[in-house]
Amino acid sequence: MTESTGKVNLLGMTQPQLEQFFESIGEKRFRAGQVMKWIHHFGVDDFDAMTNVGKALRDKLKACAEIRGPEVVSENISKDGTRKWVVRVASGSCVETVFIPQNGRGTLCVSSQAGCALDCSFCSTGKQGFNSDLTSAEVIGQVWIANKSFGTVPAKIDRAITNVVMMGMGEPLLNFENVVSAMEIMMDDLGYGISKRKVTLSTSGVAPMIDELAERIDVSLALSLHAPNDELRSQLIPLNRKYPLAMVLDACKRYIGRLGKERVLTIEYTLLKGVNDQPEHATQMAELLADVPCKINLIPFNPFPHAGYERPSNNAVRRFQEILQQAGYNVTIRTTRGDDIDAACGQLVGNVLDRTRRSERYIAVRQLAAESAPAPAANRS
Ligand code: SAH
Ligand code: SF4
Repeated sequence: MTESTGKVNLLGMTQPQLEQFFESIGEKRFRAGQVMKWIHHFGVDDFDAMTNVGKALRDKLKACAEIRGPEVVSENISKDGTRKWVVRVASGSCVETVFIPQNGRGTLCVSSQAGCALDCSFCSTGKQGFNSDLTSAEVIGQVWIANKSFGTVPAKIDRAITNVVMMGMGEPLLNFENVVSAMEIMMDDLGYGISKRKVTLSTSGVAPMIDELAERIDVSLALSLHAPNDELRSQLIPLNRKYPLAMVLDACKRYIGRLGKERVLTIEYTLLKGVNDQPEHATQMAELLADVPCKINLIPFNPFPHAGYERPSNNAVRRFQEILQQAGYNVTIRTTRGDDIDAACGQLVGNVLDRTRRSERYIAVRQLAAESAPAPAANRS
């Protein structure tokens, strides 16, 4: 368990928040920019290293503030260059962060919660239950740690991390404020300067929060679809009983509509052998998405112990892709990376503590799933 020091952690503060902090201690707002650069460009956690900040202010900061990322428990590098960090957050749980280098890009897959309350049937994170929301410092701290590991001290222009996807452990829209703050720092030039197109939030479909997100930020959006009809989707994603497909897709269309013409929704579709990988599913999906500006990313299921699902054959995956391509969609297949260090999608398990200490939200979601009747036949397509 990380001990609390009673000091204000500056790591997770956005520029306006940091300006407010400096004002609150009787200092000038421009200090925020100086300090952000030290933290995020140079990876500094020691106020004494901030050479353009006078000694008196450094001492004042040392007395009331800190720059504290999550504790790194391990760092592994796969044969294919994929890196995985296990970090311990304040609740005592561990979460995982993965870096995937591919075709000149470096994508960092960041976690938003320790565990996940939504319990999707094919996801190992969901199987662990929910333990805690990550603070904004713990979310951006994953980027901070990864960035430092590439020796970007001082920062290089050609950073190793070119893209960030909120596709690690947890449902980012259920840790809304902290995730939004962290994404703002990712995009801020005083933070990591990553363009809005290259920061992607993936959601299992928390429809009302997609509309909230649109009010706050313009990052790219990915929807975990996984089934082309409500009946099957509710079996795989219990949340679908609360926010069925039509509602979720409408919210996604509104979100994408606000971003401008050239931006599209990413549809993620995990292929489960004999469950959602049949040609009729692809055909149904082509119809369902007809009026959604999107590209499709197929993810062959990544197995984990006692999952109860299998990965489809390569032929089945290709057949599924072809049907969608023939219907005019841009369809990619996500290749599995970092297999040897268990870093692939859905294999992120961290070490989520004390599954009985579930939040009220967790209980509410579970109750909802239990109470909701299966989708009525009339809604089945
Ligand atoms: N909670 C968010 C983001 C994290 S999951 C969401 O569900 O979108 C990131 C992606 O990995 C999601 O599309 C998820 O459905 C997928 N995934 C989860 N378990 C998987 C597994 N075992 N194999 C392949 N993909 C998986
Ligand atoms: Fe949670 Fe996403 Fe896993 Fe579902 S797929 S349990 S929403 S992390």
